[in-house]
Order: sequence, then structure tokens, then C-alpha cells
Amino acid sequence: GTGAYDPQNVFARILRGELPCRKVYEDDYAFAFHDIAPKAPIHVLVIPKGAYVSFADFSAKASEAEIAGFTRAVGRVARDLGLEAPGYRLVSNTGIEGGQEVPHFHVHLFGGRALGAMLP
Ligand code: 5GP
Repeated sequence: GTGAYDPQNVFARILRGELPCRKVYEDDYAFAFHDIAPKAPIHVLVIPKGAYVSFADFSAKASEAEIAGFTRAVGRVARDLGLEAPGYRLVSNTGIEGGQEVPHFHVHLFGGRALGAMLP
């Protein structure tokens, strides 16, 4: 996306502790919490602590340490939730046609049932 980061977006407010969430993990680079409207038995959102609008923004602007730290956190959350053996799905919607609603980069982690073939 091309827009500036909105510090009042809902995930920024969750990161600052201004809105409640069901937290599952936190470290220097990442924060993970249950989606408020789960689409699978396990539906967790993993977000970087940095102010990035979308995957496009994060991939272009984040430091190597942020990218590594965030990526490792996603894997760790999946493992800690017991999803590594059965498997899981990662999704990141980016921009208008990608269906992104919240303008803070996030990865959806889905698991807890057989998810079937990927559909767009
Ligand atoms: P997007 O369409 O931007 O990829 O997905 C945004 C996700 O954030 C949706 O799955 C939605 O249910 C979730 N969401 C929106 N607002 C809140 C909130 O206030 N708390 C939590 N935990 N999830 C939210």
C-alpha cells in the first residue's frame, strides 16, 4: 500500500494495551493474539511490533532483525500451539484487492482442523 501508517488502527491500539485481546505470545519483534472472529478452531494473528501497514510495507522497509525475529515468532507460535505436526496455514492479506481490513501488517495462523485445498 501507499498510505501512511495510522497509529490509531485497532492492532496498534492492541499493541499499546489500549484494547484488550487474548494474547498468546510476545517478544521484542512480534505479538500474537486470537482473532476476535475465528474462522478455524485455532485462528491467531501474529503482528510485528514495528509500524508497518502491510506485507508490502514490511518486506520493503523492515530491518533484517525485524524480519528474522517476526518470521521466527510465527513459527514458534505455531509450534507452541501444537500445530507443527498436524499442520497449519499462514495467510497475509495485503491492500485493497488482497482484502486487508486492518492496516497493520499481520499474518493469520489457521489450524485445528483439516483446512483443505487453498482457495484465493
Ligand atoms: P484482514 O482482513 O485485515 O487480513 O484481517 C483482520 C482480522 O482482524 C479479521 O480476521 C478480524 O476478525 C480481526 N480483528 C478485527 N478487529 C479485531 C479486534 O479488535 N481484536 C481482534 N482480536 N481481532 C480483530
